[in-house]
Amino acid sequence: MQQIQAPKGTKDVLPAESHKWHYIENTMREVCALYGAHELRTPIIEHTELFLRGVGDTTDIVQKEMYTFEDKGGRSITLKPEGTAGMVRAFLENRLFNEPMPQKLYYLNSPTFRYEKPQAGRLREHHQFGIETVGSYAPETDAEVILLALDLFRRLGVRDLVLHINSIGCPECRRDYNAALREYLSGYLGEMCETCRSRFEKNPMRIIDCKEQRCREIVKNAPRTVDYLCDDCRKHFEGVKACLDAAGAEYVLDPDIVRGLDYYTGTVFEVISNRIGAQGAVCAGGRYNGLIEELGGQRIPAVGFGMGMERLIAVMEANGVEFPKPGETTVYFAAFGDEPRRKAFALAQQMRREGISAEFDHMDRSFKAQFKYANKLGALYTVAIGDEELALGEVKVKCMADGTETAVAIDRLTEFFKE
Ligand code: ATP
Ligand code: MG
Repeated sequence: MQQIQAPKGTKDVLPAESHKWHYIENTMREVCALYGAHELRTPIIEHTELFLRGVGDTTDIVQKEMYTFEDKGGRSITLKPEGTAGMVRAFLENRLFNEPMPQKLYYLNSPTFRYEKPQAGRLREHHQFGIETVGSYAPETDAEVILLALDLFRRLGVRDLVLHINSIGCPECRRDYNAALREYLSGYLGEMCETCRSRFEKNPMRIIDCKEQRCREIVKNAPRTVDYLCDDCRKHFEGVKACLDAAGAEYVLDPDIVRGLDYYTGTVFEVISNRIGAQGAVCAGGRYNGLIEELGGQRIPAVGFGMGMERLIAVMEANGVEFPKPGETTVYFAAFGDEPRRKAFALAQQMRREGISAEFDHMDRSFKAQFKYANKLGALYTVAIGDEELALGEVKVKCMADGTETAVAIDRLTEFFKE
């Protein structure tokens, strides 16, 4: 029979890899705790409407990349293509705005689905870590969110990342900017891709991050958002930069970043590696002061980012980071004969109850093969059990590191290993 394969653009995390994920997840939780952030878990599916309104109907995500289907009740449902819209929906639905502000909400390992052309660094299912800090307009808050990401990278041993920042202004700045951009683009209308032509009237800024070759050439000399900031937005951006300076964070001012989602206002940023190929953005985010209102809440500001876990692992590997190895087997019980085998099974079970990792032979291996296997497992100790040991009530515990053997009474094994 033909074997069924995983859908294109998805990836299994194998046992030999999962410890990397655990290490990163644990570090993320530690860093979030240092910043007073709490986890908020949201469903993988949401009503499609949430993303049409939240992410924006002229974005690549909504126009090309969403996994949308009708469920058996005739509702249009979409697999999460990003993290923020669901977080804001949950924030509003659960009335978290009644809690003291700001609120720092994070998610990690969140499955994220985009119908993209699978290639290095681009999957159809990837996983994101992200944070949303809700309730504050202060430039310190933008800087704090960025610094949380940088702290995480530092702790994870990643060094070669560069922070790029920009400001795309508020709706007021955007009006002037859009007018200037339309004027610039009007001469190229016929040369742009179809999607961008449809964006021209509704949302010309989206054309800036189109991935089509010709569109990219056209926008090279387009007006830049930073030149159209109102006084408040300019001051705010200066404030964010001053905070980053105060914290000793290095950054590059990058007027080309406009971000591919409609909800951003003001600060936008990306953290980029040049070691993992063309898809170098590991982390991306910004401020979104209009989204909560757009999704039916009050006017509450927020700032956040999303970080691709797979790209983060790729960067860590490229940096030669050593991932801590998972817990080893403490003791392996090798046994020969029916009764000794039963005893080995019972002892392993007893050890586990006491919090000591233990293993026995499941495969009816020879005595010799059992020791070989124990070696492969990296067992710290092996215990050989035969009829003689059972009769004596005593076993020899062999330390695999130095080969020394210690005689231990069978009913004292737990105490021995606990020490
Ligand atoms: P790109 O410009 O590479 O398409 P994006 O702007 O679409 O990125 P975001 O929506 O900002 O990406 O997502 C946040 C992060 O999630 C990215 O910086 C990246 O690390 C990761 N990411 C996004 N799309 C994918 C994907 N298809 N496969 C793997 N990781 C992804
Ligand atoms: Mg994308």
